[in-house]
Amino acid sequence: MQADETAYGQLTDVLGQLNAIIQRLPAAEDSVAAYQQRVDRYLALGDLAEALSWMHESLQMAYMELESAAAIVDQDRPVDSAYGTGRPWAGPQPPRYLLGLADRAADGTARATTSYRARLSDTRLTESMDPACPKIMDGRPCSGTRVNRADGSRAAACWPHLTAEQKSEINAERKKAIAANACAECGVAAGEKCIQDGRTTTVHQRRLRALHQPGS
Ligand SMILES: [Zn+2]
Ligand SMILES: [Zn+2]
Repeated sequence: MQADETAYGQLTDVLGQLNAIIQRLPAAEDSVAAYQQRVDRYLALGDLAEALSWMHESLQMAYMELESAAAIVDQDRPVDSAYGTGRPWAGPQPPRYLLGLADRAADGTARATTSYRARLSDTRLTESMDPACPKIMDGRPCSGTRVNRADGSRAAACWPHLTAEQKSEINAERKKAIAANACAECGVAAGEKCIQDGRTTTVHQRRLRALHQPGS
């Protein structure tokens, strides 16, 4: 395998740049500490000292997580095939998640194990059928459902996590579905919006799919 095909190899530049920042931080911390020692100082730099030390620690932590996560991928170590919640994961995972998946495989609490690379390539194939949004929100997997497409597949994410282009593409598709056919579910005529409980609603699934299934 070429270096740039390994997880570690892909991170070469990121790790190098991170390391350069980390190496410089102690000097910045020292200069602030020295300033704080001055009896004739005009300003109090306690907040800055804290910010620098927090940054130092979190970047060091991030660096170690990246290295450990890359090692798990490159050594094909087993990982849990699902999050701790039991929900199967799909798509590239944040380093901390990958470390958690590997921890559960190592301590025997995983329900089923796989190699990260094997599952990643499997989920790339089956991802279009997985209804769960693959995005992370506030450090947790998003609980949203991926948006339905007219061809029966799912969009890349739940509505709030779609990009502006993806949203406008899907909106255009829905407008087309509304213009093309009456709705077999709520009975409104072509060109009219779907109705649910007396109010207009997003296009019904059957009407959306009808775009791709003429005559059904
Ligand atoms: Zn989402
Ligand atoms: Zn309808």
